[in-house]
Amino acid sequence: MSIKNFLENISENSPFYKKKFQEIGFNVNDFKSMEDFSKLPFTTKDDLRDAYPLGMLACPEEKVVRIHSSSGTTGKPVIIPYTQKDVDDWKVMMKRCYEIAGVKPSDRVQITPGYGLWTAGIGFQLGAEFLGAMTIPTGPGNTDRQIEMMISLKSTVLTSTSSYALLLGEEIEKRGLKNDIHLRIGIIGSERWGERMKKRIEELLNIESFDIYGLTEVYGPGIGLDCKYHNGIHVFDDFMYFEVIDPNTLEVLPDGVKGELVITTFKKEGAPLLRYRTRDITSINHELCECGLRYPRIERLTGRTDDMFKVKGVNCFPAQIEKVLREFDELFSEYQIILDRFEGKERVTLRVECRDPGNISLSKRISRKIKDRVGATFEVELLSFGGLPRSEKKTKRVFDMRDEI
Ligand code: ZN
Repeated sequence: MSIKNFLENISENSPFYKKKFQEIGFNVNDFKSMEDFSKLPFTTKDDLRDAYPLGMLACPEEKVVRIHSSSGTTGKPVIIPYTQKDVDDWKVMMKRCYEIAGVKPSDRVQITPGYGLWTAGIGFQLGAEFLGAMTIPTGPGNTDRQIEMMISLKSTVLTSTSSYALLLGEEIEKRGLKNDIHLRIGIIGSERWGERMKKRIEELLNIESFDIYGLTEVYGPGIGLDCKYHNGIHVFDDFMYFEVIDPNTLEVLPDGVKGELVITTFKKEGAPLLRYRTRDITSINHELCECGLRYPRIERLTGRTDDMFKVKGVNCFPAQIEKVLREFDELFSEYQIILDRFEGKERVTLRVECRDPGNISLSKRISRKIKDRVGATFEVELLSFGGLPRSEKKTKRVFDMRDEI
């Protein structure tokens, strides 16, 4: 389907876009070439929330075979309807991800993300079955059973969030079971994870790990994966159109410049999206990758527009802090950033696990380096290994308590 057909489709069949186009006086016949694309309106998560439950539907209701939902942390959830074609397209992309990672029909894929309204578990399941691998749909939690299945069924592929992969890896090491597991590949996604955490997970589980990208509003996980060269996540532009914009000016940015990823799902039937603002921060690269795949690449995600926190007037991203922490060999991968007030002034504290929590000169050196790079003063609190919580879901890094005091 061409972009023009897609625009015709949504202007006729989606009450949401029909209204939106009328409001801005856009007629599909005015669309002549892709140069006109940047004039089209964006769609935001708030639009999807306001459309609750089925206001984004763009096909007859009887064509819908499934509902997924993304859990908003605030307010109403977002409901995404899928037709059979939407599910099949997703399945094709998910299978492609497994193939890029080198997973074969002879592999055994343990699927630890959650099943249910969330897209994760069922997406990994669909693609692995379509590939012909043996799936072990354990879902999240119950670490004892998880490890038992992994050993007795000889799982070779783990699909997981990075937080849960770390938790499993540390548990396996603690129990001395590293030689009893047969994993070789990890497909890890749903949250941003630093280079140090990736390396630690790979060592603990003895795997090569691949970064999977996706979001429920679009299809779910599996709209992109990094290849064996690990220099960016290939995104599937035969199903979607990808742009990176400046989140403030909303201008489209050239290759290599960091901004907000915007996705148009031009093949979707249930809830097609025009220029959906993902709030994920990355850059795009259209140069051909060493692996030969022609799909463009996005840089590993470095944050979300809503992860950004402002401290003492300075914009900060957790990824900047991670980059500094990587330069200190004494530190482990886990950290937290606490924002609060002390004697009426803003205070930011970095809590990080390290080998020697009593090392005062180390905390000073970290603080100085952050000040140099980020421009704000962080107090650094060193904790011993295991001092920070491990999570089965997404690990929360930034705790803003400035309004609570
Ligand atoms: Zn590649």
